[in-house]
Amino acid sequence: MNSCKEEEQQLKCAWVNGPIIVGAGPSGLAVAACLADNGVPSIVLEKSNCIASLWQYKTYDRLNLHLPKQFCELPLMGFPKTFPKYPSKHQFISYMELYANKFSIEPRFSQSVETAVFDSDCELWRVQTKDTEYMSRWLIVATGENAEPVIPVISGIEKFHGPVIHTSVYKSGADFINQKVLVVGCGNSGMEVSLDLCSHNASPHMVVRNTVHVLPREMFGFSTFGFAMELLKWLPLRIVDKVLLRMAHLNLGNTEQLGLRRPKTGPMELKNVTGRTPVLDVGALSQIKSGNIKVMEGVKEMTRRGARFVDGQEKEFDSIILATGYKSNVPSWLKCCDFFNEEGMPKTPFPNGWKGDKGLYSVGFTRKGLLGTASDAVKIANDICKQWTVKGPKNCCNAHIILRRETQ
Ligand SMILES: Cc1cc2nc3c(=O)[nH]c(=O)nc-3n(C[C@H](O)[C@H](O)[C@H](O)COP(=O)(O)OP(=O)(O)OC[C@H]3O[C@@H](n4cnc5c(N)ncnc54)[C@H](O)[C@@H]3O)c2cc1C
Repeated sequence: MNSCKEEEQQLKCAWVNGPIIVGAGPSGLAVAACLADNGVPSIVLEKSNCIASLWQYKTYDRLNLHLPKQFCELPLMGFPKTFPKYPSKHQFISYMELYANKFSIEPRFSQSVETAVFDSDCELWRVQTKDTEYMSRWLIVATGENAEPVIPVISGIEKFHGPVIHTSVYKSGADFINQKVLVVGCGNSGMEVSLDLCSHNASPHMVVRNTVHVLPREMFGFSTFGFAMELLKWLPLRIVDKVLLRMAHLNLGNTEQLGLRRPKTGPMELKNVTGRTPVLDVGALSQIKSGNIKVMEGVKEMTRRGARFVDGQEKEFDSIILATGYKSNVPSWLKCCDFFNEEGMPKTPFPNGWKGDKGLYSVGFTRKGLLGTASDAVKIANDICKQWTVKGPKNCCNAHIILRRETQ
């Protein structure tokens, strides 16, 4: 790699011998490992100061993988055999660290990518951080579907007297002992945070505005997700959904009676079409049944002491937790590119959303969790490897010449 000084902007320029990967989460690490395995070097730029920063900084203490470990492995290296079926977040992080070590992946930390553009004059991607401009033939976007918290507009929230936090900063119910807490959102995080609050003697009220599919995490000793994946090998999606809903009913009873209305579309079809993940219940439902978690309809407005709900009820709260999900940040830094839509997701859905034009790739934007990451990473590495073998050394020389000319 070369570097040069540009007095005016004080930007270092760096030619990257191989692809630039933006993001050192599981997706960035997976694709770097697959490239390394094919003999292709790469550079990983990470805005945080560690790998897997979502897992290290933005997840709650009691989190375990939602899916069994065999559906969350990265390519080329499985989980340690000693890990349980649903590894804890700490175990997952230690797996990520072992993974990065095994493939000698050393991301450049504190390198938040501010812009990336394709320069058609020199046919290179120009990727800019605060202090450096990196250039390469290939750009791999691995910044994740969960890069930024979604903060909804709730009328009157600025008047509320207590703390309002997003689940990305929630750690444990220990911070809310004996409090009345309004949890806005009923996805996996909303349910699990409510459950955690219960086990710390807090009183959670969970706002359920939309329809939601709740499935047991396990049915008759088997993982529901694993069971669905097996069925999908033999049966059409809609039949699988019917089987899942029938079995969920046998296991959980009628969730509609608890205020959890099911969408008309089945759970797996909904996940495929919209990316909405069904809730895999780890205990919140029994707390709802026993009244420890109260289900509330939508919030009409917040007041100074609490909330007014659409059904006319008014209640006081000490704190509010927004379990309102995350979004991609790609539109904020990837410029002049029509491969991603306004939400920062590839316009072409899975399984074809991994490759764009002009050496652009995306990994981990499949709405299929780590299973989708593994599939993307292998395809991207194979694709770049073919180009590397054919054109690598020639392009490497060209790029050096371009850099020198620019900096004279
Ligand atoms: C609470 C929770 C539980 C989950 N449980 C599961 C599960 O059990 N199974 C499963 O398959 N999936 C699960 N997921 C989904 C999970 O987020 C992904 O599967 C996984 O973390 C995706 O990895 P990723 O590398 O694509 O994205 P991320 O893990 O989000 O990593 C992206 C990285 O990019 C960095 N970055 C972002 N913007 C920039 C920038 N501009 N410049 C440089 N770096 C940048 C971020 O700092 C981050 O380190 C869960 C998600 C959450 C929130």
